[in-house]
Amino acid sequence: MLTNNFGQGRCLLTRLDHGADILHQAGRLAKEEGIKTGILTAIGALSLAELAYYDQRSMEYRKIPVEGPVELLSCLENISIRDGQPFVHAHAVLADSKGRVLGGHLITGIVFAAELCMQEFLGEPFKREYDSVTGLHLWEKNDNL
Ligand code: ZN
Repeated sequence: MLTNNFGQGRCLLTRLDHGADILHQAGRLAKEEGIKTGILTAIGALSLAELAYYDQRSMEYRKIPVEGPVELLSCLENISIRDGQPFVHAHAVLADSKGRVLGGHLITGIVFAAELCMQEFLGEPFKREYDSVTGLHLWEKNDNL
């Protein structure tokens, strides 16, 4: 287990831009605001979404098809450092026109309308490093920032 203690930083409420990807917008906001560690929540609606499931055997993401515009019921994201830049990791729960729910690792989310809350954490940021056991880029202590 790896733990860091962080202090509370700023809390930003943001109305995201129509037609742009939620992950790109969150990453850009973190960069512009100098936020290296934090958590985000978002709700709204997406005109296009792509989700994925991580296959633990093959250590690959498998795409989950998402059809049509969807409600963004819940999106949870965190920010840490990967390759020297703020990196956003996001999971989302989506609903279609009948209220059927689909969830997974969020790859793409083109915003129809969405509201985001970014909570900054103050302290030594984690960096993401490749982990051979899982095949994922996981948090490690950061000695160089
Ligand atoms: Zn994920």
